[in-house]
Amino acid sequence: MATYEFVDHAYDVVVVGAGGSGLRAALGAAQQGLKVACVTKVFPTRSHTVAAQGGISASLGNMGEDRWQWHMYDTVKGSDWLGDQDAIEYLVREAPKAVYELEHWGVPFSRTEDGKIYQRPFGGMTTDYGKGIAQRTCAAADRTGHAILHTLYGAALKHSAEFFIEYFAIDLIMDEEGACRGVVALKMDDGTIHRFRSHKTVLATGGYGRAYFSATSAHTCTGDGNAMVLRAGLPLQDMEFVQFHPTGIYGAGCLITEGARGEGGYLTNSEGERFMERYAPSAKDLASRDVVSRSMTIEIREGRGVGKDSDHIHLNLEHLGPEVIKQRLPGIAETARIFAGVDVNKEPIPVLPTVHYNMGGIPCNYHGEVVTMKDGDADTVVPGLMAVGEAACVSVHGANRLGSNSLLDLVVFGREAARHAATIVRPGTSHKPLPKDAGDLAVSRLDRFRNAKGERPTAQVRLEMQKIMQSDAAVFRTGESLREGCEKLQRTVGSFADVRTSDRGLVWNTDLVETMELDNLLGQAVATIRSAENRKESRGAHAREDFKERDDAQWMKHTLCWVDDKGHARIDYRPVHLTTLTADVDAIPPKARTY
Ligand code: FAD
Repeated sequence: MATYEFVDHAYDVVVVGAGGSGLRAALGAAQQGLKVACVTKVFPTRSHTVAAQGGISASLGNMGEDRWQWHMYDTVKGSDWLGDQDAIEYLVREAPKAVYELEHWGVPFSRTEDGKIYQRPFGGMTTDYGKGIAQRTCAAADRTGHAILHTLYGAALKHSAEFFIEYFAIDLIMDEEGACRGVVALKMDDGTIHRFRSHKTVLATGGYGRAYFSATSAHTCTGDGNAMVLRAGLPLQDMEFVQFHPTGIYGAGCLITEGARGEGGYLTNSEGERFMERYAPSAKDLASRDVVSRSMTIEIREGRGVGKDSDHIHLNLEHLGPEVIKQRLPGIAETARIFAGVDVNKEPIPVLPTVHYNMGGIPCNYHGEVVTMKDGDADTVVPGLMAVGEAACVSVHGANRLGSNSLLDLVVFGREAARHAATIVRPGTSHKPLPKDAGDLAVSRLDRFRNAKGERPTAQVRLEMQKIMQSDAAVFRTGESLREGCEKLQRTVGSFADVRTSDRGLVWNTDLVETMELDNLLGQAVATIRSAENRKESRGAHAREDFKERDDAQWMKHTLCWVDDKGHARIDYRPVHLTTLTADVDAIPPKARTY
């Protein structure tokens, strides 16, 4: 192994990731007087949160009566009873506070006539325990994530969080007792290697949508934090639950927000029929995402898709009128024009279910502390390590996330992680000496990939993995397709030993990062497909054609999956928390999930 000089830093808290969750955690920790570093591979306001369109949920009741208990019911039902009800109670009760906090920091929310925050309907959000449609999703036109991200970045700077921009975090520093002591990162512009020591390391690295071929997520969504956790010998949770958004633009994958249907848009098949009325008679086009995606897939399979290959569906907005489109959905009109060549005032948008969100991730409790299974106890806290945002699995989304609950998750749990860290870490506490091998894992991987001159270019291996995931771990799954997918993926993982990082002779740091991201994706792809193969029931986003029903007796449990460096997976399960946090509300007993 080559010898490297490390550049060493010491902080009370290091947050890896500057999306909505990372910024909220960094800002919160800085507000508590802690010395905070925020390490990010892209400029903060280019984090994927910037793409969030539709909005953030909270039972403010600005557009009709609303209650956090109804929001809780919807979230538990949306999760298909895989969400932890204590964490869900925390999420929805804290929601109004978290949204007002954003408003006070300056998020330019759209407004009602009387100046309150505008709220729109979203899939699965109801009033009175499913009886009516709620207007609960707070929106800044169709650019809510953009508005939140910019506001949080400004606020974090104001509170003196320190940013390390275009630093690629490679691996965690774990000590012999299993505690996290910080993280190692590559400074991408000059190749120097940095060790960040911290009392709390918060992973806020987002989802891993790019394990699939067609995804609404940015190319940077490679789940790097999840992979660091796997390499630290810790498990990931519920990775089989991958959300397909009903309305990705056909061919391009870019998202058309559910807010478009919230504003009155609807789906039609080749016969011009509003088919969602058959599948979800009450909620129709605003049923939850897994339900709408499956209904669209069935329409296409049964020959009622649109287009010359009958392989997609139409989303109609023409009837809304130019005023509503201009005021509420300007970004959508632009996206449809650029990526589908469609004028939404005159013609429907061609759409297809597209990978959009990862319900699975790093298991943690509602304080943001990472947990693992030790001596049979699945709630054992990993000292020093926390996770927030899409990287984390708290689990509030269970088997299926409701639209607009993710932005909420980012700010509620980002804030709570910071608050909790401050109850444990005193500002300026000195650091223990680092373990002797601190940084060795990261350096050995850098060495390996810098010198990888095999036969298979990174892009070729990546494409193969993405195609396998797209075809074998899709909207509908069977035992056969999953088994086949596991075998094919195992071969792809094996072939990665023969990877070639660069075709140019000279290895740029961007080449190196792409290969490390692929390494990260491969482990998560294995965890996803193996966890899916093992779960023999249908629940939320995991729809098995050979096990069509939800089976609470056998399968109301979270999957834990460990993947070793050869791509071999080990699976175990932990119980779902079916009790609430306080006595203010009863747990919601499981029942059939219809919309
Ligand atoms: P991200 O915003 O993805 O940020 C990840 C951060 O981690 C980045 O700063 C990145 O630089 C950093 N990072 C990653 N790896 C490394 C590494 N190795 N080293 C250093 N830094 C690293 N949800 C809603 O609730 N409402 C919506 O309207 C909505 N709309 C959406 C629209 C689209 C198109 C998509 C794809 C998602 C949408 N979602 C929405 C989901 C939501 O936007 C995401 O779940 C959320 O933004 C994720 O935020 P995050 O903070 O977890 O991660």
